[in-house]
Amino acid sequence: MMKLLLKSLRKIGAIFLVLTLLAYQPLNAYAKEAETLADLREELKSLQAEKKRNEQSKNETQSEINSKKNAVASAHKEIEQAKSDITVAEQEINDCKAEIDKLTAETEALLVFMQQMNGENAYVQYVTGSSSMTELVMRLAAVDQITSYNQQTLTELEELINQNEQLKVELEQKQVDLNQKIENYEAKISSLGKNLADLAEVSEDIDDQIKNQKALIKSYEDMGCGENQLLSQCVEVANNAGWRKPLKRGVVTSLWGYRKSPITGAQQFHNGIDLAGNGEGTSIYAAASGTVAAITWKSSCGGNKVYIHSYVNGKSYTHYYFHLLNINVKVGDNVTTETVIGTVGGGKKTKSYDKCSTGAHLHFGIATGFYLGAGKGSYSSYSKLVANNIQPPGFGKKGSWFYSR
Ligand SMILES: [Zn+2]
Repeated sequence: MMKLLLKSLRKIGAIFLVLTLLAYQPLNAYAKEAETLADLREELKSLQAEKKRNEQSKNETQSEINSKKNAVASAHKEIEQAKSDITVAEQEINDCKAEIDKLTAETEALLVFMQQMNGENAYVQYVTGSSSMTELVMRLAAVDQITSYNQQTLTELEELINQNEQLKVELEQKQVDLNQKIENYEAKISSLGKNLADLAEVSEDIDDQIKNQKALIKSYEDMGCGENQLLSQCVEVANNAGWRKPLKRGVVTSLWGYRKSPITGAQQFHNGIDLAGNGEGTSIYAAASGTVAAITWKSSCGGNKVYIHSYVNGKSYTHYYFHLLNINVKVGDNVTTETVIGTVGGGKKTKSYDKCSTGAHLHFGIATGFYLGAGKGSYSSYSKLVANNIQPPGFGKKGSWFYSR
């Protein structure tokens, strides 16, 4: 029993150790941050190994829970057996007691008979000749034999009762012990169940990490990064994890999609989103890090325009900004999301040349792929850009304000 307990304690200790290691082990075994695709793949491998170890711990814990449950079931069975053994012992005690009562009564009757034999009555019978002396002696001897036999039987029966009483006590103690055992097992099952839940949680974490790591590797692969090329070099045209808003605050006045033109009143496709609520001269930021691909000055529809090429989540995009009052960048500049590329126009100050604006606002759009830009590309690449136009993410409905980027 003690040995078994120590063994179980050691096992629980081992599981706890594994959990502690899992909880405190850094997600990758490398001291330095991954710098190449090869590093990322090594990290993925170590995550997968961790997942395997975790699965193993889960299985071990589950099988220990199962064995403890079996032990509980067999202890319950033993208790049932002890109860039925007690019933048998009690039955036997009762039988013995009945037998004792019977023998006691019989012995008493014999003793009374013997007294009578020894008494006056017998003597009178002897004298009157109704009974021979020999017969009398024989009878007395027989009675003596029976009583001593009964006496021995009584002793044996009492011994049997004692044995059964003792058995009963032992069986009752056994029941107490078994109940204690069940309680211990159930406590163990409950703590193992908690361990299992922790392991399952860790397992979900690892699954997420593996999924993210694979997605990260894929995006660098898509960008064409070499296996041992420094990722920082590979994504010189900085890769963006997502888009930021080009203004610190504003209101959506027109959504991307088909709409009635505010100028002509005809249905037309609006290949961007209009952001007002800022006066002319308000700073416009690049929505993603990238390179300025094209600039158009004083277009009769859109005024001053900036086109920027970026990678976002490994995909190439062109994002563009129309109706600018000033432009602060030039073609080929690398910009970040903190770069002020220009300022809001489209109001009175640009009215002389920009016929497609009725008030100060920014027309902001995103298209998939790289648009080569004025003077560099062709009409077909511009058409493609328009065709690839997408809804800029992160904006609310028409009329909704935003107060941060
Ligand atoms: Zn617009």
